[in-house]
Amino acid sequence: MIERLVNDLRAVCGADAVLAGRDETLVYDCDAYTIDKHLPQVVVLPRSTEQVSRVVQLARREGMPFVARGAGTGLSGGALARQGGVIIALTRMKRILEIDLRNRRITAEAGAVNLALTRAVSERGYQYAPDPSSQSACTIGGNVAENSGGPHTLKYGVTVNHVLGVKIVLPDGEIVQLGGKAAERPGYDLTGIVCGSEGTFGVVTEVTARLVRQPPAVRTMLAVFNSVDDATNTVSGIIAAGIVPAALEMMDQLVIQAVEAAFKFGFPTDAGACLIVELDGLEAGLDRQAERARALCMAHGAREVRSAATTAERTALWMARKKAIGAAGRLAPSNCTQDGVIPRTKLPQVLREIAEIGRRHRLRICNVFHAGDGNLHPVLLFDERDPEEVKRVLAAGSAILQACVDAGGSITGEHGIGVEKIDHMRSIFSETDLEVMSRLKQVFNPEELCNPGKIFPTSKGCVEVMLKARSVAL
Ligand SMILES: Cc1cc2nc3c(=O)[nH]c(=O)nc-3n(C[C@H](O)[C@H](O)[C@H](O)COP(=O)(O)OP(=O)(O)OC[C@H]3O[C@@H](n4cnc5c(N)ncnc54)[C@H](O)[C@@H]3O)c2cc1C
Repeated sequence: MIERLVNDLRAVCGADAVLAGRDETLVYDCDAYTIDKHLPQVVVLPRSTEQVSRVVQLARREGMPFVARGAGTGLSGGALARQGGVIIALTRMKRILEIDLRNRRITAEAGAVNLALTRAVSERGYQYAPDPSSQSACTIGGNVAENSGGPHTLKYGVTVNHVLGVKIVLPDGEIVQLGGKAAERPGYDLTGIVCGSEGTFGVVTEVTARLVRQPPAVRTMLAVFNSVDDATNTVSGIIAAGIVPAALEMMDQLVIQAVEAAFKFGFPTDAGACLIVELDGLEAGLDRQAERARALCMAHGAREVRSAATTAERTALWMARKKAIGAAGRLAPSNCTQDGVIPRTKLPQVLREIAEIGRRHRLRICNVFHAGDGNLHPVLLFDERDPEEVKRVLAAGSAILQACVDAGGSITGEHGIGVEKIDHMRSIFSETDLEVMSRLKQVFNPEELCNPGKIFPTSKGCVEVMLKARSVAL
C-alpha cells in the first residue's frame, strides 16, 4: 500500500517532493514540542493547491491520516503524525501572490514565513501586524491554524483579527475559498472558525490578510527590576493607568542570563526581571506617554529604565527577546515551553506558584512571556533522555496549567491544544462543550483522517498513552 501511495504521490508532485523511510522522515517526527514523537510513513512537499488536493485524495483512498505542517515550530505537538500517515509540508508553497496596498491586503501561499509578509511591504510603510516570536521561521498557514499571537498583539490583536480569507483543501480534496478581501461578509464567519482549528478542518493553502501602516513613531524601553513581583505588579499598574502599550513583555533572571550570553545586548544579569515596554502611535504626545510609563515603572520598584536610543538598538532588543526561547537552549539539553493565560492582576501570585511548582518537582523553570496579555510561557528545563525527569516535566506542566485555571485563566493563550493539552480540556470544557466542538469538526472532517488524535480527549488519557509509547521507544 505504501509503495503504491509513494509512487502515486511522486507522479503528482515529482520525485523530489516525496520522502519515505525512516532516514528521510525522521526530522518530521515532532515539532517544537519534542516530548512526543511519531514517525510519519510519508512526507510530501507539494507546490500548488491542486497538488495538495490530489495528495489529500490519495491519502484518503488509502484510508491514511494526513497532517498539514508549516515550519514545525508549534509548541503543542499539533504537527505530529500521531497516528502515522502522510505529512503534507507546505514549505515549498511560499509565494506572495498579491499585494494590494490600495485596499491594504496581502495574499500569500500558506507556507510563506510570517516575516516575509511584512518584508514584502515594509519599504512602502506597511506591515502584517501579528508577530509571533518565531516569526522568522513560522508560516502564515501555521499561524492561521494556531490563531497565533505575539508581542505586539497586545495592541494589534491576534491572527483571527487580521486574516480575512483562506483557500482550504477540505479533507475530501475539494478546494474552497472562504472569505476574501472584503472586511465583512454575510453568513457565518467560516474563516474565523478555521483560525485556531489546529489543522483539523483541512489544509490551508492560501491566506488573505490585512496590512496595517507601520506606526509613525515608537518608543521602546527596558525596565529593570530586582524582583519578579515588582515587574509583574508594574504590568497591571501600566494598563490600569490607561496606557495600552504596543507590547509589554517580561523576562526573568534565568532568561536574562541566557539571552545576555547569546546576544551580549548589555542586559543586567543580576536583575530579578526585566520588562520591555513599547509604545507607538503619533509622534505628538508619545514622549509624554513614555515618561508616564517610565514613572510608573519607577513607582513600582524599577531600579532603572533604559530607552532604546536608535532603531538599531530597538532591533537588537527585540531580536534578543524574540530569540529568548532559543537562547534558553543554553540552559539545558531540552526545554518545554508551557502556555497558559491568566488575568493580568494574577501575574504575581501565579508566578510565585510556578516557582513553587518548580521546587516541588525539582525542575528549573524560567519565564519569558507576553505579560501585557497575561499570557505566561514558563520554560521547563530538563533532559529528554531521562524518562524520570520527563515525567516530572509533564507533572509540573499540568500543575502550572491547573494554577492558571484556578486563577480564572485558561490552558492556552496561543500555542493551541495539539496533543500536549488534551488531558486538560476537561478542566475548562464540559462534556457538552466538547461534544458541540467535536460535531463542528465533523462537519469539515467527517472521516477524521485530517490531523486525527488532536485537541479532543479520548477515554484513555493522552499522557498515559504517550508515556507508554515513549517507554517503548527509550
Ligand atoms: C521560539 C518560539 C517562539 C514562539 N513564539 C510564539 C509567539 O510569540 N506566539 C505564538 O502564538 N506562537 C509562538 N510560537 C509557536 C509557533 O511558532 C506558532 O504556533 C506558529 O503559528 C506555528 O507555525 P508553523 O508554521 O511552525 O506550524 P506547525 O508547527 O508546522 O503546525 C502547527 C499546527 O498548524 C497546523 N498547520 C500548519 N500549517 C497548516 C496549513 N497550511 N493548513 C492547516 N493546518 C496547518 C499543523 O497541523 C499543526 O496543528 C513559538 C514557537 C517557538 C519555537
